[in-house]
Amino acid sequence: MALYKLTLHELQEKFTNGEVTAREIVQAYSLRISQVEPKVKAYITFTKESALAQADALDQKLKGWRRTMPLMGMPLAVKDNICTEDVLTTCASRILGNFVPPYDATVIARLRGQGYLLLGKTNLDEFAMGSSTENSAFGPSRNPWNLGSIPGGSSGGSAAAVAADECVAALGSDTGGSIRQPAACCGVVGLKPTYGRVSRFGLVAFASSLDQIGPITKDVTDAAVLLNVIAGHDPLDSTSANLPVPDYTKVFRRKDLKKVRVGVPQEYFAEGLDPEVDQAVRGAIEELKRLGGDIKDVKLPTTDAAIATYYVVATAEASSNLARYDGVKYGLRSKQTKDLLEMYMTTRQEGFGPEVKRRIMLGTYALSAGYYDAYYGKAQAVRTLIRRDFEAAFQEVDLIVTPVMPTPAFKLGEKVADPLQMYLSDIYTISVNLAGIPAISLPCGFSKAGLPIGLQIIGRAFEEETVLRAAHAYEQATMWHTKKPHMR
Ligand code: GLN
Repeated sequence: MALYKLTLHELQEKFTNGEVTAREIVQAYSLRISQVEPKVKAYITFTKESALAQADALDQKLKGWRRTMPLMGMPLAVKDNICTEDVLTTCASRILGNFVPPYDATVIARLRGQGYLLLGKTNLDEFAMGSSTENSAFGPSRNPWNLGSIPGGSSGGSAAAVAADECVAALGSDTGGSIRQPAACCGVVGLKPTYGRVSRFGLVAFASSLDQIGPITKDVTDAAVLLNVIAGHDPLDSTSANLPVPDYTKVFRRKDLKKVRVGVPQEYFAEGLDPEVDQAVRGAIEELKRLGGDIKDVKLPTTDAAIATYYVVATAEASSNLARYDGVKYGLRSKQTKDLLEMYMTTRQEGFGPEVKRRIMLGTYALSAGYYDAYYGKAQAVRTLIRRDFEAAFQEVDLIVTPVMPTPAFKLGEKVADPLQMYLSDIYTISVNLAGIPAISLPCGFSKAGLPIGLQIIGRAFEEETVLRAAHAYEQATMWHTKKPHMR
């Protein structure tokens, strides 16, 4: 089998055994990228030359004594809102179009410590604001299963790159579903860890109380392998949790779901859910039952307020976080302006795209004197209710299963003119961020048109192990994860 088709743990085994060199790995992926990237457009920046140089150094070192680590020699793609030292990090925005960070994000430093190979930086909706990658200043990425469809967003470049075998695994970020939605659209696995599980240091902030970095991979085992490396306390992120990190790959010893209580919230199977998605997810729930899971109904009554709550909290935090782009400290600076104020204003006018401006305006409004209590204060109160819904449900069950997206990947251009329609695609993923809990998306079927459908498994805070164990048991009992898109 071609090298690029292997999962991370399969490739790692070959590398450890000395069956392939790091140089051969980079070359295999470079060839693959040159073949499919013109159609998929998953990447913003390529780092082939530095990857080759690192690969050679690694091969040289391993000649003496062959001792590897799980990510050593593994060719990864990284979402372009995660800082990489000396490598362009644009956030798919004109305002950061020339920004080269002088430091690595903590997750990158950890991968580098293992000797990973960076293939490039992947496309996203500008500042991770969107659900389709169509808000990228560099144009959209495409879904490898159907080039006329969106790959999901905002980590669409990362998910498309994994699905099209343009990298062995990738990192994404998830503020309201941006790892899980593109994973579902592209038929791969995406894990959003518990808030605080993975350091946000070096992740360009969108909504700081919601953002989390996580893996996008070809299977569930790979998600665990990557989480093992990126999870853990970081003194550079004051919201990172100082808790021990288990070995997430150990959970795969159990292959059934006996004694696991699985909740199904009726609110997630209501009006607006596409019948094909409904059928695929219900089929998956049947499979979980066959595996020994104890299926129960649970209630998440505040679900209908989730979108409104999220779009107040996220835009408020974004308006504050994005105040730093003023043409002085980073990136773009407008020339030929007559004074400082005009420089600030024209820089922001030219540098931000329409969705980012919309959110800055909404967020500034929600935080302004006289409106703060009515909007931001209220949204925070409802956020607490959403979190309590999950706490109550998790008294009765160990996991909750739902769809990831209301529909399979929609057509490019279908929703760009209507932001509210676009926001509605977040209905099944954003409550998880508001509650700060972990959730995975994994493939559970296909639509008649041949587009992947995702299953979401949600767990209690810091119980990624239970989520991964159930996802792995399901994956082993089905074949969805082995399907690959035929790229024409
Ligand atoms: N689609 C959501 C938004 O546009 C979530 C994005 C994300 O998770 N980064 O805000």
